[in-house]
Amino acid sequence: MPTYSYACAQCGNAFDVHQSFSDDALTVCPSCGGPLRKVYGTVGVTFNGSGFYRTDSRSSGPSGASSGSSGASSVSSS
Ligand SMILES: [Zn+2]
Repeated sequence: MPTYSYACAQCGNAFDVHQSFSDDALTVCPSCGGPLRKVYGTVGVTFNGSGFYRTDSRSSGPSGASSGSSGASSVSSS
């Protein structure tokens, strides 16, 4: 579970919150009720580049390449 750092824009209160990716981000300072903003770069929340993978399955199409040309191979050369 990643840790998000928040800092209050009003009172300067900074704290860390353990949240999952599906949790909503905090927007209100628990101390003064002011607006919070996320602080990036100070915690170990890493968006690892190795996680980006795409299913490029269009290069090797199994069907549609060599079908439909029936009778082309029945050429008898004498
Ligand atoms: Zn505050």
